[in-house]
Amino acid sequence: MNSEEFKQFGKAMIDYIATYLDNIRNRDVIPSVEPGYMTKLVPEEAPTKGENWRAIMTDLEKVIMPGITHWHSPYFHAYFPTANSYPAIVGELLSAGIGCVGFSWFSSPACTELEMLVMNWLAKLLGLPDCFLNKSGSSGGGTIQGSASETTFICLIAARDRTIKRIKQKFPHMTESDIRGRLVAYTSDQANSSVEKAGLIAAIPMKHLPSNEYGKLTAETLLEAVEKDESNGMFPCYVVATLGSTGTCAFDKLEEIGPICKKEGVWLHIDAAYAGTAFVCPEYRHLMKGIEFADSFNFNPHKWMLVNSDCSAMWLKESQPLIDAFKVERIYLRHKYEGLVPDYRHWQISLGRRFRALKVWFTLRIYGTDGIRNHIRHQASLAKYFEYVLKKDHRFDVPLSNMGLVLFNLRAGDNSTQKLLNLLTERKKLYLIPCHFMGKLVVRFVVCSRFTTAADIEFSLREIIAVANKLLLPTQEGVWLHIDAAYAGTAFVCQGMSE
Ligand SMILES: *Cc1c(COP(=O)(O)O)cnc(C)c1O
Repeated sequence: MNSEEFKQFGKAMIDYIATYLDNIRNRDVIPSVEPGYMTKLVPEEAPTKGENWRAIMTDLEKVIMPGITHWHSPYFHAYFPTANSYPAIVGELLSAGIGCVGFSWFSSPACTELEMLVMNWLAKLLGLPDCFLNKSGSSGGGTIQGSASETTFICLIAARDRTIKRIKQKFPHMTESDIRGRLVAYTSDQANSSVEKAGLIAAIPMKHLPSNEYGKLTAETLLEAVEKDESNGMFPCYVVATLGSTGTCAFDKLEEIGPICKKEGVWLHIDAAYAGTAFVCPEYRHLMKGIEFADSFNFNPHKWMLVNSDCSAMWLKESQPLIDAFKVERIYLRHKYEGLVPDYRHWQISLGRRFRALKVWFTLRIYGTDGIRNHIRHQASLAKYFEYVLKKDHRFDVPLSNMGLVLFNLRAGDNSTQKLLNLLTERKKLYLIPCHFMGKLVVRFVVCSRFTTAADIEFSLREIIAVANKLLLPTQEGVWLHIDAAYAGTAFVCQGMSE
């Protein structure tokens, strides 16, 4: 393919993407294919002779789209949002076009320097403490990682090594393997599955402490576990607190947990993968009270901040323990400015790294910080609108709502809620997933797509209520039908959530 054809192919693809996203509402959010569907559509061998790019374009609707779950459909309400925005897509394109590998400052100075810059922009936008900023003379700093999972894992390794050093000083007679065998880490039973995985890979027991009835990890529970383990000769090394849990968007009590970690010398890692973006709005910052106790903080711009995956922002109060744990030198990686600038290969698992800062830079410049704030407030207000309308139908209960998440179920009980969810999934118009809250089965409704409007929320409500009508006696009231979008537009949209 020459550059002329690249321009044609590229432009055709941009058009395709824009048309796909413009018309995404016309597709069922859940695909209809069965496992193995693709084997019937694609040859078993790669073509011997190169094909024309137009042949690929015609295959998109035949081969790919039938098997796509449309994560950017306004009727996608499962999990958490995965970000998608035009400036970020263009940033990805440029990153691929430049195609540099930024393992050291010297291997592409712009790659490291733009990353240092956008990480500072993000830290300031979220109102994080200054100790996390990239600046010369500071012991802290931040980088872009591929995922929250990776971040939780690498911070665990840094915490492990820092703890081993500390214990060795205290008990010089102990061997490193003695100490390793006694390390223990903590999180709550509401932590994301990736936290458990970090413990598995690092071979350090990750204890899932019981959360309170609101899904929060409290100081008493943590302190009790730490003291018990210490008295049994174990060495607590790492606590993962969650701000915005995956199930119910619960917030651990940082300002209580933090002082315990500080006193015990335990590394405190904050997983704010989804909810972290909301801290761009000052009205949500009370939820990160105690952030100054964190040794590391992580959120995913690739979830709620409009930056396409992969983009997970990680900050450390002290980068040295991580660098010490990850530093491997070779003569071919050295350069004459070492020590003056960060070499980000020491901050991550891989050697190579993509130029991911471009998409963050583009997104923040095109939206502006006001645009990001408006996006969050708008999505949170749409969730409030959903809650407000659903609550009018007395067959439904809404036990909790937080940011872009609303938990609901049928008062008729778990069986009916499960049937409702099964039927909704069979109809493929909405994508929702369940979780447990206070001993009951609930459905998670998340405002995910950045295209979502009040009219889309009404579509989803209509679908949910229509399915409830099939399962149960239709409601006498039907109040929801009389609520129109104009009302939602003025009363709810862009109205921040106060707690
Ligand atoms: C989504 C999520 C994760 C996992 O994020 P990845 O970037 O996919 O690893 C971790 N923690 C929480 C709270 C999440 O919501």
